[in-house]
Amino acid sequence: MAIYSDLADAIGNTPLIRLKGPSEATGCEILGKAEFLNPGQSVKDRAALFIIRDAVERGLLEPGGTIVEGTAGNTGIGLSLVGASMGFRSVIVIPETQSQEKKDMLRLAGADLVQVPAVPYKNVNNYVKYSGRLAEQLARSEEHGAIWANQFDNTANRRGHTETTGPEIWEQTGGRVDGFICAVGTGGTLAGVADALQPRGVKIGLADPEGAGLLKIYTGEENPGDSITEGIGQGRITANLDGFTPDFCCRIPDAEALPVVFDLLAEEGLCLGGSSGVNVAGAMRLARELGPGHTIVTILCDYGNRYQSKLFNPEFLAEKNLPIPQWLTDTSQRFLPSVF
Ligand code: PMP
Repeated sequence: MAIYSDLADAIGNTPLIRLKGPSEATGCEILGKAEFLNPGQSVKDRAALFIIRDAVERGLLEPGGTIVEGTAGNTGIGLSLVGASMGFRSVIVIPETQSQEKKDMLRLAGADLVQVPAVPYKNVNNYVKYSGRLAEQLARSEEHGAIWANQFDNTANRRGHTETTGPEIWEQTGGRVDGFICAVGTGGTLAGVADALQPRGVKIGLADPEGAGLLKIYTGEENPGDSITEGIGQGRITANLDGFTPDFCCRIPDAEALPVVFDLLAEEGLCLGGSSGVNVAGAMRLARELGPGHTIVTILCDYGNRYQSKLFNPEFLAEKNLPIPQWLTDTSQRFLPSVF
């Protein structure tokens, strides 16, 4: 397609990029699906588009209507941008712990922002539950009505990946793909890609960050600890994970994921967020499980500039006792004067 008719056409069909370092280290082909190239710079544009289209098709969202969502940020950015292109407003509920850059982008995308304390899902004031209640209220008070996107339990999200991400991976690799692995936020990406690829014999893996609850649910293994990664780490079987079973599970500490992010930036020019580090570290674990010569695909979820103040901030990393790459503190990098 030479000319796209609107933003929606620019979502998806992202390239697969061979990750040189991880491939050489494992003797496998490790390929990253470059989801940061979507217009909202994340994998969540796909879910946003499918959720909005589904609501419009079912007559739930009328012109000028409002989309309400609880999100770690990326889904909100996708919903707000796609919404803007189709004439909808957005109200986004976000835990205050999420990066300032994502909140700033949400404001740019035109969303009304509600910041709430980061409390567990079982708490009534958890951002997801809060957004559901707010949507009910706005559905009554907004002139053109409101819907709750409900990305965790709205399976239009998973369908987006079953119909687009999974088939794209199959086509791009010519069917030569042995494994797929990623972390879970809602589970839409993992279970949706699994729907498309598991029946074709592709081994599907879950990479759980430290402190996330799915590892215990699927394997019985404890997963203590914590992670600075954003947008991933689930503790329940969401509707998007319903009926899905991984073939392989692993636990990825930040101390393993972050050096992967730093090396991909310094050596391969790929500027990525923390969840991509968990995914690529997971792909390396799956590669070692399957042995050399296999092809493993994972997701490069979002662009790293969204985390400048955290993941790429030496003071923040030092505070959390996390590895700091030498180049991040290098003061010899030059700003050269302009020459006229
Ligand atoms: N990485 C990032 C940065 C995200 O924002 C999300 C979504 N919350 C994910 C990964 C996980 O994707 P999914 O919701 O499809 O499980």
